[in-house]
Amino acid sequence: MLTPRIAEGQQIPLLHEVHSDDERLLNTIDGEWFEILYHLRWEDYREPAADYYNALYDFNQAPPQATTEESDARPETQEQARQRLLFDRATAPIATNPPAPILFQREVVEPRAREVQPSDVAPGVVPLRLVGRKPKCFFGLLKSFIGTSLMGFPAQPEQVHLLLRSNPAFARVCGFSHQEKGRSEYHYHQVPSLRKLEQFDQIMTDAGLWDRIKLSEVKANLASGVIRAEQELVGDTTHYHAYSSFETVHYEDERGNECKKSQSKLTKRCRCEDWQACPHEWELRDAGAGTIVKAGKKMIWGHKASVIGLPQQGIAIDAVAVGDAATHDGQTFFPHVEKVLGDHPDLAQSVRRVLYDSACDDASLKQRFQEDLGIELKASFNPRRSKAITEELPRGIEKITPSGVPICLAGYEMDYQGIRYANETFIYRAPKGDDGLCVCIGCRERAQCCNHSSQSGRTITVSFDTLKHIDPSDPPMAKRFKAIMTRRPSVERMIKRLKCDLGDDRLSKRGNDSFQAYLDKTMISYHLLIRHLH
Ligand SMILES: [Zn+2]
Repeated sequence: MLTPRIAEGQQIPLLHEVHSDDERLLNTIDGEWFEILYHLRWEDYREPAADYYNALYDFNQAPPQATTEESDARPETQEQARQRLLFDRATAPIATNPPAPILFQREVVEPRAREVQPSDVAPGVVPLRLVGRKPKCFFGLLKSFIGTSLMGFPAQPEQVHLLLRSNPAFARVCGFSHQEKGRSEYHYHQVPSLRKLEQFDQIMTDAGLWDRIKLSEVKANLASGVIRAEQELVGDTTHYHAYSSFETVHYEDERGNECKKSQSKLTKRCRCEDWQACPHEWELRDAGAGTIVKAGKKMIWGHKASVIGLPQQGIAIDAVAVGDAATHDGQTFFPHVEKVLGDHPDLAQSVRRVLYDSACDDASLKQRFQEDLGIELKASFNPRRSKAITEELPRGIEKITPSGVPICLAGYEMDYQGIRYANETFIYRAPKGDDGLCVCIGCRERAQCCNHSSQSGRTITVSFDTLKHIDPSDPPMAKRFKAIMTRRPSVERMIKRLKCDLGDDRLSKRGNDSFQAYLDKTMISYHLLIRHLH
């Protein structure tokens, strides 16, 4: 069915079906996906639609084949390929020159065909140039993928196909109809086959169209005020379970030491009988997958995404695939912030500070943000020492935690008060109890701690030298620091929404190009949902 809005000069659809179910579905509570698809402004997607049809034309002219180049040199052995690919990774044992990009960068295939113009396309109107069987309508296919994600399923061809087949209201709002009984021949209105959905997804991915639509959805929300620019950005990474397995590669490092690292298994794109002997190049079966080490040394074989958002509104602005999932989080944030500010000039104007967890608590990284971008990086404090300080402490104090909190003999945490610069010390005071009185009053340790009869309780000072690992210009015990960092966990809610509410953290495709496309599709639905709920 068509959205009843037709651009000027466009042929008006001759039939406009109205289904009473549609009216009812529009009023149901869980019908968000239906409302969004029903009201989707197709005019906003004419440019990617034209580019899609051009790319489809190219695709039909020359179906892709195994295009790996043959070389005259002796073919590389599988083991040589393993080593070459290992040493090409962003986390290679010896840095490559030039360094491998930290974030995944897609090589976009520009369509050669240019004939189809945005004004030539509309729902159900397929450009004339695509002769033969009338292809499936771009707008219907686009809606199918967006709708699948809005319903909470991964926007992947298998899932889209399943839903189109099983949910007639969904198929209809996408502009497809179920096959009539006794009619077997192809008709472009019918629910597309799995193969057609896969082809659409692949063409959209290769031509960089998912990425472009994502960017324009975010820009539209910023421009229309659905999202407001903020002074801060927040970031984090998250993992998705890979749809592949790894092998352990043994290699020698610079000093000749025997090391090992997990890496995707190898494959070839050709269909030769004997891969060991044929001249085509080996490549990673699941490029970008790597071992991700989580808390408690838990290891995950997966892909890693970097997510950046606006902490006050709790809205994700971008999600990108990390080139090599084994990359440390401290390395992904800077290039991603740079990309987001480049994509969105409004944010480049407004953003003064960025927030991250302790993976980015690094003086040289903070300096880089300041010097290159003029932005302050605030990261959760990473004590870099696991043991509490227990020696040379003021009387009455049992220990000072690695994050700089003294604990007294009675077990109370001392409140941070500030700094006395004259003698380079941090000042703390005993806290107040529930009754509003200082906990020192009536304390059993009073004799060996306070020994004065003061009502204000114990005050201590701790020298900068005792807490060498704490930067006095930005102490993590300070109220201001804590207040700023309370906004950091908002990114975890954004990630939950993208990963669980609009998809699944188990991937069903391999390679970073399809991983990035998956993130893009999820972000498109996410921003349409935000606009809808605004
Ligand atoms: Zn081959």
